[in-house]
Amino acid sequence: MPQKEMRVIPKPAGDAVVLEPEAGKLALEGQGDTTYRCGACKTRLMDNVSHMDVFHGEHFDAVKCPKCGKYNAVPDEDHHHHH
Ligand SMILES: [Zn+2]
Repeated sequence: MPQKEMRVIPKPAGDAVVLEPEAGKLALEGQGDTTYRCGACKTRLMDNVSHMDVFHGEHFDAVKCPKCGKYNAVPDEDHHHHH
């Protein structure tokens, strides 16, 4: 089960789509096998997600970590397709 760290980014612009899970909740949960953690505090932000969930599901620009309040983006290298 791959675990990836997300990339901490500055606060996105006002029109960006930011997922803001409540404390202890995940921003996204799916049927895949990848866990994404906050790049700052390592809190799990997305669990059991697949490439489809992250890149071809509902669009989002960032995830706000409920624990440390930092904004996280999906790591750049994951935008490449490996099919
Ligand atoms: Zn965090």
